Amino acid sequence: MQPGTAAPVIDSAGVEGKIAGIAAIRVHDPVFSEEVFLAQVERIFFAVLEAWTALKPGLSQGVMAPVIWEEQRSQIQSYRAGGRRNPLDGLSLTSANVAGASSDGKVDTLTVRINAASSDYDVDSAGQVVRGSRTVADWTEDWIFQRPATLTTAPVGTIVSQECPSCGARVTVDITTICPFCGAAVISGRFGWLLARIDRVL
Ligand SMILES: [Zn+2]
Repeated sequence: MQPGTAAPVIDSAGVEGKIAGIAAIRVHDPVFSEEVFLAQVERIFFAVLEAWTALKPGLSQGVMAPVIWEEQRSQIQSYRAGGRRNPLDGLSLTSANVAGASSDGKVDTLTVRINAASSDYDVDSAGQVVRGSRTVADWTEDWIFQRPATLTTAPVGTIVSQECPSCGARVTVDITTICPFCGAAVISGRFGWLLARIDRVL
């Protein structure tokens, strides 16, 4: 089996459900584009996992809904307290596809099927592996993004100056960018979508 083909890239509502959901979103956000959205999700994917592996919850605060961000922060705190890390060696994003979409008039929801690969193990402060394996393996998750249905896609290209959440440098960013000084993802508030839930698929 090839990487990225382990699970179908559509949710239980099927292709028709996704098409209807995108159409419902476009009613109030005519310029919504899956390609533009997914390009931002790719940055967010690495920002969220960088926050996790570097034990720096501040890196992902701007893109996660408060409930899930608090969960991630408290897990990071327990890793810190135990002197452990979960490095995710060899992390790569194989594919990201919109697997489902809906809009109920109050909230827009997009499910992104993520196929990725990394190792999954914990090391203690002495560098000893205390859980998992250093072998890089494929994994699949659904990342569910939500925004109020009053929001629309921000036009790309309006540049603002913003502080990097990792190193504090001033960087220019439209929606997301990579800090030229430290490589961290910098997310402006203009993306609008927040990561509301992560479901492990495989
Ligand atoms: Zn930086």
